Amino acid sequence: MRPDILTPLFAETESLEGVGPKLKKPLARLGLERLRDLAYHLPERFVTRRAVTDLDEAGEGEQIVIALTPTEHRASRSQRGPYRVLAQDAKGNICALTYFGRASYTAKKTLPVGEKRWVAGRLDRFGDMLQIVHPDHVASESSTLSGNLVEPVYRLAEGLTQPRVGGLVAQALEKAPELAEWIEPGVIEREQWPAWRDALVLAHKGEHAKARDRLAYDELFANALALMLVRQSNRRRKGQSLQGDGGLRDKLQLPFPLTGAQRRSIDEITGDMAQEAPMLRLLQGDVGAGKTVVALEAMLVAVEAGAQAALLAPTEILARQHFETLRKLAAPTGVEIALLTGRDKGRARESILMGLLDGSIQIVVGTHAIFQEAVQYKNLGLVVIDEQHRFGVSQRLLLTAKGKVTPHTLSMTATPIPRTLVLAQYGEMDVSRLDEMPPGRQPIDTRVISAARIDDVVAGIERHLTTGQQAYWVCPMVRDHESEDIAAAEARYAALKERFGEDVVLVHGQLSPELKDAAMQRFAAGEAKLLVATTVIEVGVDVPNSTLMVIEQAERFGLAQLHQLRGRVGRGSEKSTCLLLRGDELSETGRKRLALMRETQDGFRLAEEDLELRGGGELLGTRQSGDEAFNIATLEQITRLLPIANDDAKLLVERDGGLDSERGQAARVLLYLLERDWGVQTLRSG
Ligand code: ADP
Ligand code: MG
Repeated sequence: MRPDILTPLFAETESLEGVGPKLKKPLARLGLERLRDLAYHLPERFVTRRAVTDLDEAGEGEQIVIALTPTEHRASRSQRGPYRVLAQDAKGNICALTYFGRASYTAKKTLPVGEKRWVAGRLDRFGDMLQIVHPDHVASESSTLSGNLVEPVYRLAEGLTQPRVGGLVAQALEKAPELAEWIEPGVIEREQWPAWRDALVLAHKGEHAKARDRLAYDELFANALALMLVRQSNRRRKGQSLQGDGGLRDKLQLPFPLTGAQRRSIDEITGDMAQEAPMLRLLQGDVGAGKTVVALEAMLVAVEAGAQAALLAPTEILARQHFETLRKLAAPTGVEIALLTGRDKGRARESILMGLLDGSIQIVVGTHAIFQEAVQYKNLGLVVIDEQHRFGVSQRLLLTAKGKVTPHTLSMTATPIPRTLVLAQYGEMDVSRLDEMPPGRQPIDTRVISAARIDDVVAGIERHLTTGQQAYWVCPMVRDHESEDIAAAEARYAALKERFGEDVVLVHGQLSPELKDAAMQRFAAGEAKLLVATTVIEVGVDVPNSTLMVIEQAERFGLAQLHQLRGRVGRGSEKSTCLLLRGDELSETGRKRLALMRETQDGFRLAEEDLELRGGGELLGTRQSGDEAFNIATLEQITRLLPIANDDAKLLVERDGGLDSERGQAARVLLYLLERDWGVQTLRSG
């Protein structure tokens, strides 16, 4: 149960003055649904305005506050045109206050001719006229504006204005209670951080680094603490020691020797599985590093020990691929493997359920369908979760809650997350790293090409396809909007289809699973030669005959993601090529990123460099796996503060694992406040 003291903060935004259904929508689009969301809607930046007495004093482009008297309203002749209010300063200089669209209604009301107004906004020039487009504030009293020269700038959505959001944030902050301190006193003192409520208020007022740090720290600490509680409760859970006799593993006829990294990881995993406490281990290995075989060995250990194993994939496509691969690899062992997805119905499904219940099916591969209520296991000993980052921690917890005895869990991710972020996201787990690639991999010939040469690229694809090999075409990432990405993909698909006809297929996130699968099947079977896709192919697809990859607007992708995408090629014996198409306006970071892609194929190195580049200040449009766990802390803060937060959390759990002390109680409040309460749940169940 959420502590009572937080109740006001969890009230809906509609409970605020001035918020009705109409305002609720744009707020919700920003994720602002409750007062706490508003309180934590921290400014993106601040503007500092200068109060000037006349326009001569102000520079173009400057943020100013000035007294102006409207002299004339000018509606545009065309509907879409601007609405201008001409206004005079004390010296008689004229400036236009310019409004577009519906905002003109406001202008009519707030700027009556002949009445002096205080106006805040950015002074620009339009032709030979000075103007302020959409003034941020218009007030009849000077006091409201001139006392407030540093102003927060919030992220907005259509239908919201800065003053609007600012006002709601202020209301939310008023309702915020004082909360007991959860940070270790020594840390607070050393860093000279303000108390929680003060920090929140300050963070909205100006560039208060200490306040921002404190709030970031809260988030990192809450996360670390929740993960540690999970880890602690896991240790206390009843698992089963699984020790195989090697009987099945000996029968495997792998066509290659294992790499050193694979052998080491397998040893670590079998070591864990032999313990009674359930394993919580992350297997981190770049695309192509050979995680599947490691997973198979672990699953065979479980089967040798008389238990069952389940492999969970994030998509049906991947589940199917894993199933095919494992069935082939494990054929000599005679182990019974089944595939179970949400689409299996009727008899086929019944018989799989029976097999899992009576133990005749020893390994099951599937989507989350394998954890539904109806699915009962005879003795589930090991759960392998592929592509971990698709599942949140709370989901991870649910998965292993099945049965009286907690199964061992092996999570696998192909995202080479930097060490600091591994700790942040998977802090409750032990980590095995596949940092050595199987031998004989051909390097992927990576080139950066101007998008202006797209015709050459298409011609190149044509030549490539005539050799019988296949290709991927990854569409540009438009912005944060999936629907725009899809529109871009559809457009590219249509254009390529004119050239290549039936040889092209399209895959994106909004296709029905049937259509998506059908397209993937055609491509995997070699019937289709060119796969056009949004980033959905990022995860797992394996078609070795596809040896060319084109990535449009490559500069928009983060390094980690580019690397992930590129990993789709270079899987067969033929030499592979990756063409990174870049736009004309390449930022310094964009250029560095693409250069690095050309330079190295080492995923771990790219991940560390990515962190470095992003930490360097450039905001990428998209958050990437690794830091998406955090809303408040920036990458720079994560790197700087996370180690402290981790130590602090560890110390608290060691001293007060039940969170019963005064500080423990405060920390509970924090976990609820920052919605890491799954950490608290483990206290009760464990
Ligand atoms: P991941 O899942 O880590 O991306 P996979 O398990 O799909 O990688 O392995 C990629 C390819 O490498 C597969 O074709 C697999 O058979 C092969 N492979 C795995 N381990 C080795 C090894 N030790 N030597 C040679 N090839 C290997
Ligand atoms: Mg894989």
